[in-house]
Amino acid sequence: MIDAGVNLTSSQFDKDRADVVARAKANHISNMLLIGCDLPSSEQSLALANTHQLVSTAGIHPHDAKDAPDDFIAQITHLAKSPQVVAIGECGLDFNRDFSPRDIQAHVCNEQFKLAQQLDMPAYIHERDAHEHMKTLLSDHQIKGVLHCFTGDKQALKFYLDYGLMIGITGWVCDERRGQQLRELIPYIPNDRLLIETDAPYLLPRTLSPKPKSRRNEPAYLLAVVTQIAELKSTDFDTIAMHSSANFNALFMANQSSIS
Ligand SMILES: [Zn+2]
Repeated sequence: MIDAGVNLTSSQFDKDRADVVARAKANHISNMLLIGCDLPSSEQSLALANTHQLVSTAGIHPHDAKDAPDDFIAQITHLAKSPQVVAIGECGLDFNRDFSPRDIQAHVCNEQFKLAQQLDMPAYIHERDAHEHMKTLLSDHQIKGVLHCFTGDKQALKFYLDYGLMIGITGWVCDERRGQQLRELIPYIPNDRLLIETDAPYLLPRTLSPKPKSRRNEPAYLLAVVTQIAELKSTDFDTIAMHSSANFNALFMANQSSIS
């Protein structure tokens, strides 16, 4: 299995980061995409990717858009030259929490989409309660990538699939109350468009048994997401694990062999 979204730079992992990676590997996680959400965490994710033979993203999350320096695109471009950096992001729009003004979110996202297209790299996209605006931004570009931690409605799913994006599913799907709409939509996601991610340390799957003592999520728990998706799609665990890994490699690792 491959975890397509881990926030390994989170301070929640400060005490045992190497153990978290070791536990993931012991639980058959062969690769992870380490997410950068601003310039410092993009640099740290790259360093961790180097240390642990993983891959990472470089970009600016909508929450952090207001703090982006004027030369953020030059800095992301520089980071993206490293072979371990396989995507631009986390970029996008979050009109749910609105931690940055919406016009600034849109500008910072748009510039990263432009860069992704220019570098022919996939984008790692975050969208919360901003589908209509995201539709407009995407329509101005032709990019590949993943709509990570998808939680939208059927119409949004249809747009992202028609556009050509992969759909990232997290432990949100393991939540019977909050994840009800997502659970109903899982059968509509084709196997060749599915990515699985923990978004650790966030979104601890509610179906884990026994329940961990801590609320902190980690990549070793990815199997709970796969189990839940397999059940909702009336298929088996291995089918979901196999397809999502193949999708990950096709989207993010296609240029890796030509670099090394
Ligand atoms: Zn996100």
